[in-house]
This record gives sequence, structure tokens and C-alpha cells, in this order.
Amino acid sequence: MPNDVNPPQEAEIASYHRPARGEGERLDYPFEDIPEFGETQEIAEGIHWLTMPLPFSLKAINLYLFDDGDGWTILDSGLNTSMVRDHWDKVFDKLLDGKPVNRIVITHMHPDHSGLAGWLVERTGAPLHMTRAEFLTARTLLLEKSETVPQKALAFYKRAGFPAMALEAFAAHGYGNFAKAVWELPQGYRRMRHGDRLDFGGRKWRVITGSGHSPEHASLFCEDDKILISGDQLLPRITSNVSVYPTEPYGDPLGEWFASLYALEHLPADTLVLPSHNEPFRNVQQRTGDIRAAHIRRLVALSELCVEPKTAVEGFPVLFRRKLSGMDYIMGTGEAIAHMHYLEKRGNVERLSDGGVDRFRTIADFDPESVAEEFDK
Ligand SMILES: [Zn+2]
Repeated sequence: MPNDVNPPQEAEIASYHRPARGEGERLDYPFEDIPEFGETQEIAEGIHWLTMPLPFSLKAINLYLFDDGDGWTILDSGLNTSMVRDHWDKVFDKLLDGKPVNRIVITHMHPDHSGLAGWLVERTGAPLHMTRAEFLTARTLLLEKSETVPQKALAFYKRAGFPAMALEAFAAHGYGNFAKAVWELPQGYRRMRHGDRLDFGGRKWRVITGSGHSPEHASLFCEDDKILISGDQLLPRITSNVSVYPTEPYGDPLGEWFASLYALEHLPADTLVLPSHNEPFRNVQQRTGDIRAAHIRRLVALSELCVEPKTAVEGFPVLFRRKLSGMDYIMGTGEAIAHMHYLEKRGNVERLSDGGVDRFRTIADFDPESVAEEFDK
């Protein structure tokens, strides 16, 4: 097992871009009221929207409870904090009506989604449904309990252009945060694969996997009622973090993210989307188009900036509207590298390595149309 697994998962949650002014305004939001933490609101027959608190710049996560008639299906679990566990106690007492939990479905392994999955399994005895890459990645990160930051991770951020002070701050932040935010997961699980059908809440759901934000994220689509449980694959008001990590330092998550967005575009326009953050909404195509356009604007700006060679960190001024600090700085770096790698893999920029630092220089104009052309073939 590599010892350079980078688990700043808390940071990952905190690093979603703050909503840009007006972002997501053109979507249709059918529900005016957002439930209080630990409370539920029935938003379609047998589908209950539940929110749980997050101690980050992102304040809440949506979970969903599905009435199976003879019991419940729980979708996502919330972060492993005593406050969220207290809210769950209330949910079990008041809302689940003494009926059993039939299954727990987790969209992906990030701690706000998987943090209490193991705790819910222990409490209910219900099986855990996840995709293989999400389950195994989470199990791996749970083993990372070292307090000191590995040299390889420091070298990775140095290569991205971290100044000495930022490297020191990163080293001081410590390591192994995933295991603090996630309850121990069971040793076994039920695997969800792309295209699989799951039946729960009186509906048939088809699994649609995606990557770029996490390794093998599961969304679920009910064709009969046109409902998409989107997880973090499609959020209405914020852009999901798409980052390169020291574990896969030459990855192309943005290329994978674009592919995943295209996979959602064939869904009916009046599909009701149940996201993991902010309110349920309609108009999938408007949202996938806006998210793609935001990344394309950044790619254009970066390729213009890199006429003079630039590190990932030197790309911040054209990528982010605000100054990044703390863990946002680390996560912004992952995003900046993701955009650089997208351009590098398509021959738009070249990498110049010198003294343990990588700079990227534009060698061919980036054509915004090329993003769509990759998927027209
Ligand atoms: Zn996530």
C-alpha cells in the first residue's frame, strides 16, 4: 500500500467553491422550505428529505429516506460527529416509526456521505450498498492513521508551486483526517455497478456511475418517475471539487468529470434532481451546461496565462474569485493541477520541471469546442 495516500477529506468538503453570485438561479426549485437539521420533508411519495449539519464553509448535507412499506432505505449517512449521531437518534425515534432499515446506500466515500455508514450498519444490521472503488478507497483511507505528513505528499505540493510557508502549514495540519471523520466501515458490502438496478422505496433505480469528484460515484435514476438521486455529481449552486491528489499525481480528473457530466445529459429535462447539497431542482441540461462552461472558462484563462510558464498555484488568480487560505488553499491547488493536466494531456501545455517545481507552458491554443468534440466521436 502506498504511504502517500492523501486524505484531507475534511478539506475536500470545505473546498467546494462558495456559491458564485447568481449561480444556479436559472434552475427550477420546486420546494420553498428547507428542512431543519434532523427533520424531514416528504418531497415525493415515500421520499423524505433529511438534512444534517457540516462544520465547514459548506453548512449542510442532504440525506434521503425511502419508505419501503415494510421498512426504510437510507441514502447517505452524514459526517461522524456526535451532533449528527444525536440527530439520527431523533430520526430513529420519531420518523422511522419502529420499522427496520432494509438497506443503506452510499453514493461515494467522502466523509459527509459515508461518515456514519458503518455506525448505521452496526445499529440496524442492514446491508451497505456502495460501488467497489468507493468502498475500497474508503477502507484504505481508514487505515491511514499516521500523524505526520509523508514526504511524498509534501513533494507533490512543492511541485505544484507551494511557497515554503504554505508547505510548513500543510505539514503542521497533520494527517489521517479521514479516519477521524468516518466511523469504521464493515468488512463486507453489496457492490453497485454502473447499470445495476436497485429496487427500494417502491421504485426501480438504475445506477449511473461517474468520476472526477470521487473514484466511482453512484447516482441513481428512476425512469418511471423521472427522479435522479445525484449525490455530488450534480449540485445546483456550487461546483463539486475536481482535484488531483498525491495518490494519483498525474491523473486527469477533469477529463473524467466532463465525461460524467455528458452521461447525465440524456436524462429528461423535467427530471427532479435530488442533490447532496442545496435544494432539489429541475433542468439537468441547464446545470450540466453551466458547470461545463465554468470549467471551460478556466481552461481558456489558464492557457492564456501560461504563455509565460506558470505553476498550478500561480494559476489561482485566473481560477478563483477569492483569495484561498488554509485547507481551501490545498484543495484549490488540486483543482488548479486538474485544469493544468487536462490541458497537458490534450497537448495544449507542456510541463517544465526544474528544482522540484513544475511549470506549464502553452504550446497550442485551447479550443473550447474540443471539450464537446471528445464526446461526439
Ligand atoms: Zn463528495
